Amino acid sequence: MRGTVLYGPGDVRFEERADPRILRPTDAVIRTVVTCVCGSDLWAYRGTDPVTGPTPMGHEYVGIVEEVGSEVTNVKPGQFVIGSFATSDNTCPHCRAGYQSSCVHREFMSTCQAEYVRIPNAHGTLVATDDLPAEEFLPSLLALSDVMGTGWWAAKAAEVEPGSTAVVVGDGAVGLCGVIAAKELGAERIIAMSRHESRQKLAVAFGATDVVAERGADGIARIKDLTDGVGADSVLECVGTKESMQQAIASTRPGGNVGFVGVPHDVAVDGQELFFSHVGLRGGPAPVRAYLPDLIDRVLTGRINPGKVFDLTLPLDQVAEGYKAMDERRAVKTLLTP
Ligand SMILES: [Zn+2]
Repeated sequence: MRGTVLYGPGDVRFEERADPRILRPTDAVIRTVVTCVCGSDLWAYRGTDPVTGPTPMGHEYVGIVEEVGSEVTNVKPGQFVIGSFATSDNTCPHCRAGYQSSCVHREFMSTCQAEYVRIPNAHGTLVATDDLPAEEFLPSLLALSDVMGTGWWAAKAAEVEPGSTAVVVGDGAVGLCGVIAAKELGAERIIAMSRHESRQKLAVAFGATDVVAERGADGIARIKDLTDGVGADSVLECVGTKESMQQAIASTRPGGNVGFVGVPHDVAVDGQELFFSHVGLRGGPAPVRAYLPDLIDRVLTGRINPGKVFDLTLPLDQVAEGYKAMDERRAVKTLLTP
């Protein structure tokens, strides 16, 4: 089979790789139906995260089960399945507490931009749909594998409640899905922080009531203006830089909460500032597995359409162009079809 390998900054290749096979009784092998490039893949593509050797890429997937190990009884060959970017047994204490992305058997997926994928912990990770979904649902179902699940977690971690005011920092795919999540969880006012017109439009289509283009101190001042000087109840931090985290904390009212889901790069939080802010912080890799059944239902009933974040579709063998388009901000997110 063929799969995507990153050799160094800007050097993405689609090449022959060994066919994945069952290595443990809890594994499954799936045939990829659609996959995609994640904003977080760009950290390595741009050289911000070091690449020490040829690295298989991709952690988002939906597919058809080809083969299962002897201990996998929840799914069977021929079924359409979705799973999280972080695999889990779904039975350990952390899984039972709703933190499947901290499962004691967790393995992060990293080979999904390929024709076939081995899924470790398939017994606790994969969720099958009742039927083969119609093609129109595929982008949104794929989005559940990471960006929509992560946006949902950001809103949950920031404790978005009916009637509340939510701010979303970051207009990438996760931030845009965070807008969807805030709306579904009942936020009355949703302020999207975005400087890009096409992304602003999508944020509004997803339920944002206000858009703030300013950043830093100006952005914080605008949020304060829009909230009668109080600050927001919930802030979804969907970037992962020092600036975005500071902006998130300073935009939150005393007693409010920040959900931070952007993978932190050089983020430092000042202890005194945090202490006197009275702001709650919760973040980390999203426990997507916990949300999958509910989110699959919301997609298949047409309540949410997170697949709209894909604004470029390419054949999987043109994956390199998919990275390039996202790196140059010509695309928010690239869908890849084998
Ligand atoms: Zn577990």
